[in-house]
Amino acid sequence: MRCGAATCESFHSIDLAWLGQRGRLKPWHSTKLTWSWGGEKTGSINILVQPDGLRLRYSFTADNGEKVGVNELVPFMYTPAQFGGRRHWLKCIKCGRGCRKLYGGRYFRCRQCHGLKCASQSEDPAQRAMHRADRIANRLHDMWKGTTRADWEFPPKPPRMRWSTYQRLLDQYDELQDRWAIGMMGMVSRFSAGGAR
Ligand SMILES: [Zn+2]
Repeated sequence: MRCGAATCESFHSIDLAWLGQRGRLKPWHSTKLTWSWGGEKTGSINILVQPDGLRLRYSFTADNGEKVGVNELVPFMYTPAQFGGRRHWLKCIKCGRGCRKLYGGRYFRCRQCHGLKCASQSEDPAQRAMHRADRIANRLHDMWKGTTRADWEFPPKPPRMRWSTYQRLLDQYDELQDRWAIGMMGMVSRFSAGGAR
């Protein structure tokens, strides 16, 4: 298939908002995340909350059949939040930008770092969701005159934008990213079931 090494595991996600809502972002809290698809377990990782980021520990099986242990720190980044305080983001280890969610297979990286691999498949619903998400982020980057592009997947709130508008765009962005991930998983399993192409 054209997506290279993409597998179902490529679209496992780590979502700070999800962890936070469940009280799992307290310092030194440890969480085991397990994913499944079509009733089968497809992967799991251990997440430890350190003051400076999330420590991810898991292993994957390399092409030569060997188990590879991964132990990576995904640093936190921060932006101001609406009522004081600050919002946490994850810094993608590959591109260095602040991200809403990380997606993993072998390594956990942002959607764009994963999505580039599949850029040629521009007509499917997953790609459409991805392009819509990018348009929302680009609109915010434009309001920052592009200065946020190197640092953020989804920029902090532009000075003249209302918080409610910003939150609405953020929610839309998250939903589109979820749609992208689900679409990608569906596509991968369809290819696996249908054989190589
Ligand atoms: Zn990235």
